[in-house]
Amino acid sequence: MSSVERIAPDSPTKLFAKRQPVHPRRIDGPFRRFKWLVMFVTLTIYYGTPWVRWDRGPYAPDQAVLIDLANRRFYMFGIEIWPQEFYFVAGLLIMAGVGLFLVTSAVGRAWCGYSCPQTVWTDLFQHVDRFVDGDRNARMRLDAAPWSAGKAARRVGKWTIYLVIAFWTGGAWIMYFADAPTLTRDFWSGEAAPVAYGTVAVLTATTFWLGGFMREQVCLYMCPWPRIQGALIDERSLIVTYKDWRGEPRGSVKKAEKDPGALGDCIDCNLCVAVCPTGYDIRKGPDVACITCSLCIDACDRVMKEVGRPRGLIDYATLEDCRNEAAGGQPRPAWRTLMRPRTVIYFTIWAGIGLALLFALGTRTHLGISIEPDRNPSFMLLSDGSVRNAYIVKLRNMQSRPRWVQLDLKGFPAAGMWTDDMSRQDAARQIVREVPPDTTLPLRVYVIAPAGSRPQAFDFAATAQGERPERAAGATRFEAPEDTR
Ligand code: SF4
Ligand code: SF4
Repeated sequence: MSSVERIAPDSPTKLFAKRQPVHPRRIDGPFRRFKWLVMFVTLTIYYGTPWVRWDRGPYAPDQAVLIDLANRRFYMFGIEIWPQEFYFVAGLLIMAGVGLFLVTSAVGRAWCGYSCPQTVWTDLFQHVDRFVDGDRNARMRLDAAPWSAGKAARRVGKWTIYLVIAFWTGGAWIMYFADAPTLTRDFWSGEAAPVAYGTVAVLTATTFWLGGFMREQVCLYMCPWPRIQGALIDERSLIVTYKDWRGEPRGSVKKAEKDPGALGDCIDCNLCVAVCPTGYDIRKGPDVACITCSLCIDACDRVMKEVGRPRGLIDYATLEDCRNEAAGGQPRPAWRTLMRPRTVIYFTIWAGIGLALLFALGTRTHLGISIEPDRNPSFMLLSDGSVRNAYIVKLRNMQSRPRWVQLDLKGFPAAGMWTDDMSRQDAARQIVREVPPDTTLPLRVYVIAPAGSRPQAFDFAATAQGERPERAAGATRFEAPEDTR
């Protein structure tokens, strides 16, 4: 018998299971209030940031956070990032990644449970459901009811609210890429760029669909992060856990009264399942379906209070502590759970990158220079025997005000230079140009050296004049015949 024939009889006949709608019940408690707070803060930051102003003077935009793709700049409050400084953005992204590793190894899927955009928007849409259709039981009844005018009106009303939220979400996103008040005016007057309308349309559709309908399926089937987290969580990570040694065997209060001591603390009320936004039963153990939102802790604590039993039947705990507790031991203090080699290493890497970025930010200059020598020909012999090289020298003024920049020849005493707007007779060892704010000024520079000059290295040195002069230098070569005699 082949292996296929042996396996086939037990294999599932369908690879697709229809989604069972999840109608989480309203619950209150410390974790629910914390989720409210996180939702308020994250949504306020997302929708409000583009409207925050930041005065950078008359030559730069006054939007605090702006990704100016047209001019290739990223503004974040007092910081302005140029394309060649993208390592700052890369550093921040690496910090975000390592930060996620740190949080996950310390407190499990806290990111998923509280601040992932999919969680926040799904939570928001579930509140809309409650607002329009009522709490869990009312929604389940309405779902099961046949279509009627009343049901259709409720659905249209609810989906309209979804659509407004989704449109607002897409609209807020484009505000990060242009001056928000100007773009808003242009958008509504039909004068914005087509890409703005396209982006809003795509983000409105995805928010409407992912937050309004896909919901927990994004976490269960689409997002790779829960799978990666499996490798980051170990038995010393805090996760939401059902303490089965305390709760089992489960049974109602009546059964427990009939047979005192025979049952555990779980009264099998199912409230923990009813409040779960993914519809998971945490009593089955840790699973990818648990996003660690902790609402089941609030639910179970409430039940335990009502039946007069100690809280914490479902709680944040490490698997190691669970084993200790089950064997009669005491859980370790939270600081020992958080302070362990893995979290310390992650934190050290995270803080090290942060400090390096801060140091680089604090010591960066706002003046840059780059040099491109002509390659073909690399030098010219003039009629009097002198040798001329040509270069494109780019002076970068990274401040939002115009600056006078002096360009010097360093390490080549015999040479002089002039630019396209000068004559050879005016060749000098230094020239001064005004570089407009936030601009790279390209200069065609000719360097001349007397007959008999040999190939050699030298520097172009730039000095931005002003109260706090800044300097930058670029090394290059002067090409000449090996022997001009
Ligand atoms: S099982 Fe509990 S912690 Fe996990 S997602 Fe459901 S309610 Fe949140
Ligand atoms: S809420 Fe608590 S008592 Fe009720 S079923 Fe869940 S674990 Fe058991």
